[in-house]
Amino acid sequence: MRVGIGTDVHPIAPGRPCWLAGLLFADADGLDGHSDGDVASHALCDALLSAAGLGDLGSVFGTGRPEWDGVSGAAMLTEVKRLLDADGFAIGNAAVQIIGNRPKIGPRRVEAQEVLSRVLGAPVSVSATTTDGLGLTGRGEGIAAIATALVMTR
Ligand code: MG
Repeated sequence: MRVGIGTDVHPIAPGRPCWLAGLLFADADGLDGHSDGDVASHALCDALLSAAGLGDLGSVFGTGRPEWDGVSGAAMLTEVKRLLDADGFAIGNAAVQIIGNRPKIGPRRVEAQEVLSRVLGAPVSVSATTTDGLGLTGRGEGIAAIATALVMTR
């Protein structure tokens, strides 16, 4: 068994669709970035790649691969799962914590867990917190996410 860690932060971009943890939040501003900006999915990708020792988002989906521009977080997770499968790793479980003021995750937490668990074929826990007004997330300038993952060699 091997564990991994991943983090991500994106700036809030008023008017952009808000994709987070595989869900569209129609009542919140989205996140900038050359993908859909889904920090929760990106942190999970990094945690899974970290656990398997397969690099990171930059090395897998880097700017040198324009075919990944604008791609969804769910599609990136699907590709990461494929890479782990191909390298002989099974996913045990994963957890992601979203850090920010909006959107409120609580009312859709179970839905997010279902979507991400379906994509990865393993249990994914989603939680959220704020920073009491401190820092870039507290000022509403961005949203961050931290993830861990457990993988097993087959
Ligand atoms: Mg990202």
